[in-house]
Amino acid sequence: MRRFQRKVVRQLSSTLDAPTPVDVASIRLSRPKRAPPKKEGSWVGLPGLEERIKKEGSLINETLREMDGDEEFKLTAKRLKEHGQAKLTLEEKKRRRRALDKLEVPEFATYLRETAQVEKVGSRRRTKILQVNVGLYCNQACNHCHVESSPKRQEMMTNEVADRCVELIAASPSLTTLDVTGGAPELNGAFRRLVDGARSVKKDLEVIDRCNLTVLSEPGQEDLADYLASQKIRIVASLPCYSSKNVDSQRGKGVFDRSIAGLRQLNDKGYGLENTNLGLDLVYNPLGAFLPPDQAALEAKYREELLEHFGIRFNSLFTMTNMPIKRFADFLWRRGELEDYMGLLVRNFNKATTTSLMCQDTISVNYDGSVFDCDFNQQLSLNLLSETKSSLSIFDLKSTNDLINVNINHDNHCFGCTAGMGSS
Ligand code: SF4
Ligand code: SF4
Repeated sequence: MRRFQRKVVRQLSSTLDAPTPVDVASIRLSRPKRAPPKKEGSWVGLPGLEERIKKEGSLINETLREMDGDEEFKLTAKRLKEHGQAKLTLEEKKRRRRALDKLEVPEFATYLRETAQVEKVGSRRRTKILQVNVGLYCNQACNHCHVESSPKRQEMMTNEVADRCVELIAASPSLTTLDVTGGAPELNGAFRRLVDGARSVKKDLEVIDRCNLTVLSEPGQEDLADYLASQKIRIVASLPCYSSKNVDSQRGKGVFDRSIAGLRQLNDKGYGLENTNLGLDLVYNPLGAFLPPDQAALEAKYREELLEHFGIRFNSLFTMTNMPIKRFADFLWRRGELEDYMGLLVRNFNKATTTSLMCQDTISVNYDGSVFDCDFNQQLSLNLLSETKSSLSIFDLKSTNDLINVNINHDNHCFGCTAGMGSS
């Protein structure tokens, strides 16, 4: 056994796994006060919710209030103003390296090659998924957000870049999926233009919307659920718990109630129901510096709780590991937990994840058209390792085939993708 492995095992606990201490399976919601209506699928919890949300209006005011009262948000904004994004990203990278140095863990690529003895993980295959980040504007400001979105971010995709994405889809036969993310992608003007354009050039393309659910009750988005259903867009939505307290602590005050309202709207359109072909998947990520619990058991629990209390149905639940980057990396560092978290990721390295890393068959496009191996590299400004240019744009590509066999730009945050069930 290598020296660093001995040290990791000695320093961290004797168990080989450290899932979330939030015992999600034991959290039960309180029974509704009134007897639930008889009709299957009717609302049973949170009576009067839709009327209340309508009266409250946009979530953005609450999000901004919380941001202005939150010391961590204020500190990050101050540092960003003083040092600039590039310097903060470099500092963050150094912190991850220092944390691994203390654990005597080598760079990710070296670890794969020499310790895990994984071969051929480092180059790109044929691209199947085009992931497009249409902008950083969001009505929420979640405390783990790896793209640091909020209502204060104004970066948005232009029509020119959206149209170029459509051209690339048309020119790339291997692409099967368009995965649209943000921010809250639906609040970006380019969202519908991109989706409509993509559908027009490739009828059978799977389109995924990374929906935060609360956007469905934003003023001006009254037709959103109809639009998503009419385009047969698959919804992948974050819901880190089925308890209001846990969701609001991670994603902001009022987010749980509005998420429930959003799910109800989607169910009403046929999402998550059998035989409708309208996919609705939920995503769980831990509330702190822990790995997710068992996916199948958690999915069963979500299904039971959401159906019993709110009449909500969905297709699948995916558990994701929190990546040690951006807002979550800051959160860990300020609490002195970054070293422990990096150690946890290394200790739970899962060789099986290395055959299905997102970067092997995905291209991630930023709102400005620059392209990356994945969404995480995009946020860290880790460019694609092209031999022709230091920074590639979507305007440089004839088709996604141009990137076959190009080396992947791995770095130490990649331990987040190979721990447990991974983050891809
Ligand atoms: S995690 Fe999603 S919903 Fe939350 S701030 Fe980031 S982009 Fe918005
Ligand atoms: S962070 Fe990106 S580059 Fe690294 S392993 Fe994950 S998907 Fe691949």
